[in-house]
Formats: sequence, structure tokens, C-alpha cells
Amino acid sequence: MTATETPARTLDSYVLGAWQRPPSDGEGQVVRDASTGEPVAAVAGQGLDLGAVVGYGRTVGQDALGALTFHQRALLLKRLAQHLTGVKEDLYEVSLRTGGTRRDAMVDIDGGIGVLFTYGSKGRRELPNAHLLVDGPPESLSRDGSFGGQHVRTRRQGVAFQVNAFNFPVWGMLEKFAPAFLAGVPSVVKPASSTAYLAEAAVRAIVSSGILPDGALQLVSGPARGFLDHLDVRDTVSFTGSASTARVLAVDDAVIRRGVVLTAETDSLNAAVLGSDVEPGSPEFTAFVASVVTEMTVKAGQKCTAIRRVIVPADRQDAVVDAVRERIARRVVVGDPRADGVTMGALASVAQKEEVLRSVRELVAGGGQVVVGDLAEPEVVHADGSRGPAPDGAFVAPVLLRFADPDAPAVHDIEAFGPVASVLGYCDLDDAVRLANLGGGSLVATVASADPDVVRHLVTGIAPMHGRVLVLDRDDAKSSTGHGSPVPHLVHGGPGRAGGGEELGGVRAVEHYMQRTALQGTPAALTGLTGRWRAGAPSSTGTGHPFRKSLAVLRIGDAVESGPREVTLDDIAHFADFTGDTFYAHTDEEAAAANPFFPGRVAHGYLLVSFAAGLFVDPAPGPVLANYGLENLRFLTPVVPGDTLRVRLTAAQITPREDEDYGEVRWDAVLTNQRDEQVATYEVLTLVAKETVRETAREPAEN
Ligand code: NDP
Repeated sequence: MTATETPARTLDSYVLGAWQRPPSDGEGQVVRDASTGEPVAAVAGQGLDLGAVVGYGRTVGQDALGALTFHQRALLLKRLAQHLTGVKEDLYEVSLRTGGTRRDAMVDIDGGIGVLFTYGSKGRRELPNAHLLVDGPPESLSRDGSFGGQHVRTRRQGVAFQVNAFNFPVWGMLEKFAPAFLAGVPSVVKPASSTAYLAEAAVRAIVSSGILPDGALQLVSGPARGFLDHLDVRDTVSFTGSASTARVLAVDDAVIRRGVVLTAETDSLNAAVLGSDVEPGSPEFTAFVASVVTEMTVKAGQKCTAIRRVIVPADRQDAVVDAVRERIARRVVVGDPRADGVTMGALASVAQKEEVLRSVRELVAGGGQVVVGDLAEPEVVHADGSRGPAPDGAFVAPVLLRFADPDAPAVHDIEAFGPVASVLGYCDLDDAVRLANLGGGSLVATVASADPDVVRHLVTGIAPMHGRVLVLDRDDAKSSTGHGSPVPHLVHGGPGRAGGGEELGGVRAVEHYMQRTALQGTPAALTGLTGRWRAGAPSSTGTGHPFRKSLAVLRIGDAVESGPREVTLDDIAHFADFTGDTFYAHTDEEAAAANPFFPGRVAHGYLLVSFAAGLFVDPAPGPVLANYGLENLRFLTPVVPGDTLRVRLTAAQITPREDEDYGEVRWDAVLTNQRDEQVATYEVLTLVAKETVRETAREPAEN
């Protein structure tokens, strides 16, 4: 800080249920507005007892989250997303100081809110309204069915310590927080110092909403060095940043000896590969060039997913370079994001700018030739609309390099974390695969091609070295979410140099915060533990037809067993005529008998399922509101005319919805013939009222 500057406010931490002021305001590392160099805030680490922070998460946070089911947590995420949507303009305003344009702010802020919405929705659709997660199908481990196995997941008992990068202070925080929260694990967030003021603003908005339970989210503003000393086997660390910091964390005693789980997402030399079929001027070529320029300029190229290596057929390098140059000249206006018309802002800090320029010089020394842009201080648009250099800002113009030798080690090693990419030529598809994989493991690659064979060749070659691959062609060019945007539904992470970690990917990320345990025991014990009925566990037909029971009285194991129904040839013929399903196995005795699976004409599978419904249903209005599907339907034994069917339907899983007056009931259905052979098995999915006035007004039906 210079003598004339006003001391900046030192950022607060939100720990132990309260905002904590650092002991001496105005002290610490000064972080500056990326465009103007004005001080924004100071970041100091003193005065925080990280052991107490971790302890608070493990006790208060764990207790509060443990009291909630997956669905209750998911609903809180949805409410939080709605709340942040209402205040996002305030966050955009703060975000301007990071150098990002409004579009960049949307990637960060709306992207983060989108992750909350997605987990709020997936948590209720894909997880049970329970505390424990059943993982995979039941396993039978004894001939008589008295002993079985089931994998389950329970939440880890510590904190999720999240160390974030400077480039996405909001998204980076929320994409780690949402799955941890859904799992029931409290988060301690440590933002990168240079943009910690935006993370602090977002946490202020979260805390003031009052939506989150105590201890669910703590914010540590400051370097937090040594945080690993306080962690052990109960805790998880999710890190995003440089490979060198990840290496420091990975060899810490906490990870090596005390069993802390570490997930790292580090730098990555992502590739975009232009298929050998793509000619200049084609829609794929245009989409490819647009993607390269977008990835160079969004967030001024400060994205772990940005395209760094542009791998194209050797004879099309000139065309690609020309098209990129032309698009940048036409579309990119570098400047203070507060000025109208600016499409690319500043890097996050002057230090980062120096780092990028240094990396470009190294790329040049390693064989690269700058073919678009240069390293001179760029003329930029200032906030007041004037143009000129801004030496106190962190501006770098887009730079495209070209490597005559595509194997030059520098281009596969040096990540210039800014608006920088390099063009490499390949001679055939195997060569393209080889070059892409020289990145040593990457987060994402784009393959641009309209030829399925080219796509297959490239994708199967590079997929083992990449966490995500986007196939770009004329049909998805407009609808694609883009090369550089991780989506919460799909995994984000990559092997090798990319850190070897995995984040997002829907409920997969929730599972990262849970321990998988193989349970063994009787069907009764496993049903009791998992809340999911399995064959061999007790069931009861003696307490009235289960369709007469609301969720308030229905119990897992409540069952109905039907009387017999004979299937006749007339039934089969009628069903064939009525539905139009006259497949020969149901209509032609001779042709059916020639089929290796059937003794002769057999009943339609759907006829059997329909008969089963007719056998188990209790028809009068009642708590069962709707049948919304079947799962895992298997036809096991053919049914011939004269066979007799019975069905047993057992309540297997009961999931009340938090915000409705009904819930889901999953029923186990087993259809048998007169020899007690299983004819079909499946699960029936119904919506059932939580309470109903009718349930006491009617006598239980006969089973
Ligand atoms: P760092 O690895 O230095 O920092 C990332 C985070 O780790 C920050 O929160 C930082 O805190 C923290 N940190 C750094 N050292 C330690 C430590 N010893 N113990 C605990 N925490 C630590 O990366 P940078 O943000 O400086 O970026 C450097 C490079 O990393 C970029 O140029 C780029 O190559 C790559 N990067 C990759 C990203 C990705 O998403 N994969 C994102 C951003 C950067 P503090 O800020 O307080 O020092």
C-alpha cells in the first residue's frame, strides 16, 4: 500500500456461528481492484483458531445437519438458491472489482446458484428422504435366502474443508458446498486471498438469509496455512488451485498418516481437436473457432477448463489462425468491465498478469511464435469510456501462439493462466490423440467433427486421459453448454496433471462425503437398517389391504396376496386384437413353438402385468393417488393358456415428500404361476397421501 492510500477494510471470517473481525483492521495482504489497482480489502490470518473452527463444524454443524434428511437438506439448498437469485445484482457489483465482465460474473455467480438449484432438485429426485444411502442392489449370500449383503453410505463425521481458487470465488465455493451439505457434512470454506472479498460478500448474503443451520458453513478469510494440522480421518479436503500447492497438501501427514481424504483439481492443458473431416467455412469449423476464442476470453482465460492447445490438421493451421485473429479483432474489446462494450476484462491481479506474461515468454523460448496479439501493455477502455494503457490494472490482450514442432515440451507443460492458447498441427488422427494426451491428463477436451468415425477414433483415444469430452458439431453448436463450463450433472475433474480428483457429477459428488460400508445380515436386519424391504424379510397381509393405508399407517412389509386367475387362449387373442400386438409368439402356435424360448403360443408380458394390477388393486378412492411407473420389470417364465397367476405386492420403500401432502411408495411385485415359479418381478411406483379421511371410514378389503 502506498502512503496516500486509505487502508482497506480487513475481511471478516464467519466462524463459530458469528462474524469475526481480525484483531487489527486494515492490516494484512492488500488485494486490489483488477482494473484500477485501487485497494479493495486486506486479508489477514491472525486471530483465527482453526482447531476451534473445525471442532465447531464437527459438533454443532454435524448435529444440525444430522437432524435433517436428504430431502430436507435439498429443500434448504433450493431456498438458498432462490434467496441468492434475489440478491445477485449486489454480487455482480462486487464482482466488477475482480476484473470480470457481467458475463464473467454470471458464469461465477449464476453458475454457483445453478449448482444449488441442481442439487436442490437432484437431492429430492434421486436420494431417499432418509439419512442413509442404499448403494446398489441387494446381494444374496446364502442358498436359503437367510443371509445377504447390502452396500450403504453414511456421511463422514468431520468437516469438508474447501480450499478454493481465485478465479471463481462464488461458483468454486458453492460447487463444493452443495454436495457436502446434501451429504450432511459441514463446510469450512477458505477462498483464495486475491478475490476473497467476493466470497465474503456471498457468505454474508447466505448468512443473512438465516436459511442454513448453525455450523453448516464457516468462512475462513485469510491464508489458513497449517489447517491440515487440525484434520483427521473424519475430514475431507477439496482443493482447487495450482498443481504445486496440491502436491504440498498431498504429502502432508494429515493425508498420509491421519487418513484425511484429499480431492484435488489443479491446472490442466486442455485441448480442442479439429477433426480431419472439418474444412474451413464449414459449420463445425466456425463453431470450433468460436469455442477457441470464447475460451481464450471468458474470465480473461483464467479458467482451469480453458482451451490451451488447439490441435488441428497440419494443413489447416493457417486457416485456423486467420479465423481466430479475425474473430478476436471483430469481437473482443479489452477494458474495465464497468465500461460499455467491454467484452474481456482484466486478470484477477497484477501478480497474475506478471505470471501470465512470464509463462508466454517461456512458451516463446520453448518454440512458440506469437501469431495473434502481443505482450505489450494493451490499450484498454477505461470505466469512463476513454482509451489508453492502464498500467495499474491487470490487462493482457489475447495471445495465440503457433508451434512449428507440435512435440515441443513447453506447450504440453506450461499453463499460461490467461487469454492464451497455442496452435499445433497433427498429421493423422493417431497423432492428434497422442498430442492431446501429452497434456498428461486434462479436465476437458473438445472434439469438433461431423464424421462419426473420426469422432469415435478421437474420443476413444483421448477419453482415458480426460475427465470430460465435448463433441462439437453443427447440431449442438448453439445448444452446447460450452467447452469450459462444468455442469453440475456431469463430473468435473481429470486424471494426472488435472489433479486426479472428481467433483460434481450429480449425486456422485454427494457420495464423496460419505463412507461406503458393506452390511451383512438377515433380510430382516438389512430391511430394518436400510428402510428398504427385501425378499425374505417379514411381510404381513393381515392388517388390511395396503392400498387403504395412508403414509401415516402404511409400514414397510405390508403386503397383499391375490387369489388365482387363469390365463386363457381367448384372453391372449383378445389382448392381441385389442392392442394390435399380434406378434407371432402370441398368435401363431407353430411359429411360436419354433422359437427357442416358447413352448407354443404364450401370453403377452404386458397382459400379465395388466392382470396383476387387476389382481392386486383395491379400486375404491383412497390414499393411493396414482401409479407413476414400473421399474426393473423382468419376464422370467413364459405363461401358456391354462396357467394360473397369483401376485404378491409388498410395500418396499416409503418416501414422504417434504413439501407435499403425499409421498412415493415403491412396491415389490412378484407374479407366480400354479407351480410357484416366478413369472415376472418388478417394482410398482405409486404416489400415496400422507393422511386420508377415508382410511378409517372403510373396512379393510379381504386379501
Ligand atoms: P494456489 O495453489 O497458490 O492457490 C489456490 C488456493 O490454495 C488458494 O486458496 C490459496 O490461498 C491456497 N493455498 C496456497 N498455498 C497453500 C498452502 N500451502 N496451504 C493451504 N492453502 C494454500 O494457486 P493460485 O490461485 O495462486 O493459482 C496459481 C495457478 O494455479 C494458476 O496460475 C493456474 O495455473 C492454477 N489454477 C488452477 C485452477 C483450477 O481451477 N484448476 C484455478 C486457479 C488457478 P491464498 O490465496 O490465500 O494463498
